[in-house]
Amino acid sequence: MDILPDKSYVWQYIESCAREVCAKSGYGEIRLPTFEVTELFNRGVGGTTDIVQKEMYTFTDKDGRSMSLRPEGTAGVVRSIIENGLCMQAMPLKLYYISNFFRYEKPQAGRSREFFQFGCETFGSDSPLADAEVIFLAADLFRRLGVKSVELKLNSIGCGECRGDFREALKAYFSERKEGLCDTCKGRLETNPLRILDCKCPECKAIAADAPKTVDYLCDKCRDSFDTLQRILSASGLEYEVDPFIVRGLDYYTGTVFEFVSNIGAQSTVCGGGRYNTLVESLGGPALSGVGFGMGITRLIAAMEMDGVLPEDCSAPDIYIASACPEARERAYLLARALRGAGLKAESDLCERSLKAQMKYADKKKAAYSIVLGTDELEKGEATLKDMLRGGAYTVALDPADIKAKMCNEAE
Ligand code: ATP
Ligand code: MG
Repeated sequence: MDILPDKSYVWQYIESCAREVCAKSGYGEIRLPTFEVTELFNRGVGGTTDIVQKEMYTFTDKDGRSMSLRPEGTAGVVRSIIENGLCMQAMPLKLYYISNFFRYEKPQAGRSREFFQFGCETFGSDSPLADAEVIFLAADLFRRLGVKSVELKLNSIGCGECRGDFREALKAYFSERKEGLCDTCKGRLETNPLRILDCKCPECKAIAADAPKTVDYLCDKCRDSFDTLQRILSASGLEYEVDPFIVRGLDYYTGTVFEFVSNIGAQSTVCGGGRYNTLVESLGGPALSGVGFGMGITRLIAAMEMDGVLPEDCSAPDIYIASACPEARERAYLLARALRGAGLKAESDLCERSLKAQMKYADKKKAAYSIVLGTDELEKGEATLKDMLRGGAYTVALDPADIKAKMCNEAE
C-alpha cells in the first residue's frame, strides 16, 4: 500500500494520538516480525476461519518451512510474550502495536490486501474491568480524534463451558438447513459451527439470522462478567448496544466480543476485539487470559472524513528563501539552514532554477513567508520579508533571529 505525503500526515496524527492514549493507560509498544511460521496462525487464529482457509499469504522459505505474512496481530503478540518470558512478569501486561497486515481478500472500499491496524492487548486479568479497559482505550482514541459517528456493539460468546451446549444447538439448527449453506459452511458444520455465524455469504447470513444466540447459553460466570461490563460502560456514559450477531472472525475469542461500527460504507467495522482466555495456553504458554482489539486505520480515516475531523496539513514551510542570481544561491541555502536551526520550517532552491520557478514552487507549497536574495540584499545585509498569505512586506536583517522575530510579531 502506498501512503504519500499528501495523506501520510493524517496517519502520523492518528498514530501520535493512539500512542498518547496508550501511554496514559500504561500500554507499551510491541514491534514484531512481518511474517511468522504458518503454524502459528493455523493454531492461533484457527484452521476453520476465513483468514486461514482463504486469506493468508503463505510461502515456503529456503529451508522448506511454511511461512505466512501476518494476517492479524494477536497471535504474533502471544508468540512473542511466551518466547520472551513476558508472561512471567508483573500482571497485567499491557501492549499495543501499530502495524501492517496482509490478507488475500477481494480489494474494495475499506478492504485492501495490505492494511494497517492499531491494536491493544491486555493479559493476565479475568476481570470485566480489563474488558472495559480495552473498550475505553478505543473509545478514548475516537474521542481524542473527534470521531462521533462510531457505535459500540457488544456480545458475549461464552467460555468453553457455555460453548458445548451452544455448539450443539447451533449444529442442530444448521443441520436442518444444511442444503442452503455455502460449501465452506457445510464443512464447518462438523468442524466449527460457530464460524457459520460469521460467514459473509448472503445465503448463510440469511439462515444465521434466526440461529440460536450465544447470550441465551451463558454460564453464570460469563453472564456475571457480561453484566458487570455493561454496568461499568453505562456508569461511565459510554453508549452501547448488545448485538447477538457479533461473533468475530477469529477462533480465539471467548466471552466478551465487541465492534465499533460507523456508517462509512459496506465495510463498517472500524474496530473489532474481544476476550481470548485460552489462546496463550494453546500456543504453548501458561494459562493466561487476554483481551484486546484491532482497529483498521483506513476505516478510521474514512470515519474521520465523514465526521469532518481530518487534521489540517501542517507541512507548509514557514518561509522560503529564494535566490534571484547565482551568487545568492549558497547564501539563500545557508540562511534557510540557519532558520531551521532557529526552529522554523524553511526551504530554499536545490535545483538552480529561475526566480520565477522558485516562487512558483513556494506558492505551491503554500509557504507563509518568503525572502528573495539578490546582489543588493547581499551587499546591504538586508532583505524584504514578504507575507505570502496576507500580503505585507517588512525589512529584515539577514539574520535568523531578526527574521523569526518579525514573523512572530506579525503573527500576533
Ligand atoms: P471484516 O468483518 O471487516 O472482514 P474482520 O473480522 O476480518 O473484519 P479483524 O480481523 O477483527 O476484522 O480486524 C479488525 C479491524 O481491522 C477490522 O474491523 C477492520 O477495521 C480492519 N481490517 C480487517 N481486514 C481489513 C482489510 N482487508 N482491509 C482494511 N481493513 C481491514
Ligand atoms: Mg475479514
